[in-house]
Amino acid sequence: MGLFSVPGLLTCLLLQVVWSLPSPETTEIDLDGGIDQDIFDINEALGLDLFEGDIKLPVDRNSIIGDNYRWPHVIPYVLENSLEMNAKGVILKAFEQYRLKTCIDFKPWEGEKNYISVFKGSGCWSSVGNLQMGLQQLSIGANCDRIGTVQHEFLHALGFWHEQSRSDRDDYVTIVWDRIQSGKEHNFNKYDDNRSDFLNVPYDYNSVMHYSKTAFKNGTDPTIITNIPDFIDVIGQRMDFSEYDLKKLNRLYNCTSSLSFMDTCSFELENICGMIQSSDDNSDWQRLSQVPAGPNTDHTNMGECKDSGYFMHFDTSAGGEGSTAVLESRFLYPKRGFQCLQFYLYNSGNENDRLNVWVREYTSANPNGTLRFIKEIEGSPETYWQLHHVSLNVTSKFRVVFQGVRGSGLSSGGLSIDDINLSETQCPHHVWHIRNFTHLLNTSPAGKKGIIYSPPFYSSEGYAFQVSLYVNGTADNPFNLGIYLSLISGANDDHLKWPCPWQQVTMILLDQHPDIRQQMSNQRSVTTDPGRLSESSSNYTWDRPDKVGSEATFPNGTKYMRGPGVGTSAFLTHERLRSRNFIKEDGVYILLTMEDISHLLSTQPSIPPPLVTTASATTTTKAGPGPTAATRPPSGTEITTTTASTTTASTTTASTTTATTTASTTGTTNQPGDPEVPAFCPDNPCENDGVCVMVNRAPVCRCPAGDNWWYMGEKCERKGSTHENTVIAVSSTITVFVVMLIVTITTAVCLKKKYKQGKENKESVTLEETKTSF
Ligand SMILES: [Zn+2]
Repeated sequence: MGLFSVPGLLTCLLLQVVWSLPSPETTEIDLDGGIDQDIFDINEALGLDLFEGDIKLPVDRNSIIGDNYRWPHVIPYVLENSLEMNAKGVILKAFEQYRLKTCIDFKPWEGEKNYISVFKGSGCWSSVGNLQMGLQQLSIGANCDRIGTVQHEFLHALGFWHEQSRSDRDDYVTIVWDRIQSGKEHNFNKYDDNRSDFLNVPYDYNSVMHYSKTAFKNGTDPTIITNIPDFIDVIGQRMDFSEYDLKKLNRLYNCTSSLSFMDTCSFELENICGMIQSSDDNSDWQRLSQVPAGPNTDHTNMGECKDSGYFMHFDTSAGGEGSTAVLESRFLYPKRGFQCLQFYLYNSGNENDRLNVWVREYTSANPNGTLRFIKEIEGSPETYWQLHHVSLNVTSKFRVVFQGVRGSGLSSGGLSIDDINLSETQCPHHVWHIRNFTHLLNTSPAGKKGIIYSPPFYSSEGYAFQVSLYVNGTADNPFNLGIYLSLISGANDDHLKWPCPWQQVTMILLDQHPDIRQQMSNQRSVTTDPGRLSESSSNYTWDRPDKVGSEATFPNGTKYMRGPGVGTSAFLTHERLRSRNFIKEDGVYILLTMEDISHLLSTQPSIPPPLVTTASATTTTKAGPGPTAATRPPSGTEITTTTASTTTASTTTASTTTATTTASTTGTTNQPGDPEVPAFCPDNPCENDGVCVMVNRAPVCRCPAGDNWWYMGEKCERKGSTHENTVIAVSSTITVFVVMLIVTITTAVCLKKKYKQGKENKESVTLEETKTSF
């Protein structure tokens, strides 16, 4: 939470790619064991016999057909305490992809009749559609904590079958029946038009719902052969929604917009996406496809398309110092109160030329708009496009304003911008740009000698970390990108908690498609579990790097300590790496975020809380199943207090990426793999709109909760909130109870408004600070 500023010392040492001396002592933990385990491999290894590998069928299959199997556009969910911490964080990231690319949103369950209970069962599976059964289970078991897997299972829940079960699939793939394990043939059934509607979208080899070629194989040969051979290694992708996945989902749910997408512009059309040139400047941005001093091509098409490929250019070779050109976006209407602006910049002018990003905000007090400065972007001229992220926190109608400023000194070129995306999402915290990537691919050996190391980065909490990339795979697993996270020794280590608790690092290989909605980036997340022991059990994996790490050296000779690496040798195959826009202008971008997810832990009071207390709750540092209370909602959100007078002003929170988990209160959770589907209790003993369900044949109250408040207790009789980890239990006197009811009602009303009136959230702002290294 911003306890430490980013120290200058190490960041001064940043280079684009840090080649480090070999340090064979650095241990590495491969979360995938060198195998790219798909959903079906995971479930098969567990001996599960689910329909089509990962579908839990209802008793009456036919009931899922029809409009009533759809969910409302905002799906209530519970993240059960049985879930691994990394899985919880990944599920929230998957929800963010739904919010960006579809009209589906998710909200913590607050007592709605039907909701999805995400838990750690055996394997990864879901039912298909809304079965209208109250609590509907979806399992994210061990090794299922990958964003594509979570997206896949939720697509089942939303009503989608596997792509290769379409009635027309034999036109596109050939099922090789004698290569399928005997008894597993039913997993390759196809459905007639009454069972599955493909919504007038073509067969999609690229679907996140397609089996891979090796599904249910009995040997080594593929069980599915694509009729167009080029697609044999395309099927089975688990990176992100494909274009057609989105088309189908958006058709089924009549989507016309999404919660968090705002705008995209590649300047291919002459209307330049409705952007306007300002009149109060002395120059204009020009729409060009080439500038003699550079760039030679735009970023969108890299010059590969004739008569297209435009960008906007501010010529700094003419005009005097201080001359400006201003380009403003059309009006934009925020819903969440935080935005990430992404764009590519090419500087062929002078190092003193600058690009300033402003926002023009329109409020009732300033109907003509007020300019607010956001960020100055400067840097020496380069011969390539560079990706930039700028965090905004705008809550009213606004325009984004790009202001080019000519600096002192000679220039033969200028500033160019292209491929702008604006979304109400969190920006990545760090960007690692690796250039000349083809050369690296061609020359790096497999194994440790082919590792390249990122520059050191600091999290907002102050932890220093580094990512290592096996360009040509590990010795055991060549032809893959391998990626590992290590904590490294840093300037704040004496002031930080060790072993490092619950920091989730997300490593994204960016698909540089110009439109953020069509990007299919590849990502993995690793969470620092402070209780994780090294293989020899002699120390903790995430302890201080100067205690458990090995010595390494920066290119300038500075020595430091690098902790064990945790990641995967099966991050992405070279085949997929060469697809899409992962490599563009011969460079790749790895986007990195390290965030504290300890708010997703459950608080587990060891004794029943006293009736009235304001003492700080102890944050437990071990996650896991067990008797549950309400999961502690995220820190950093605004506080709901127990007095009605202050509640109204305090319930607007900008962060909808947060989850609040409600769970049972009396020592019973759904056990992993528990096939029992809880029924509702005959008499509802729960207070405060809690819902009673039968779990293990005992009545359990599921208590309502919001982003920053929740009810707990056997009957949901007590309320908690996030006031700096303070759990406020209230007495059961009638007076307080009445106050609580008022709070509940007010909070519910305010929560409904939260997307419309997201206020600045201090932690969000901290996290939004983009700390790119260049
Ligand atoms: Zn599936």
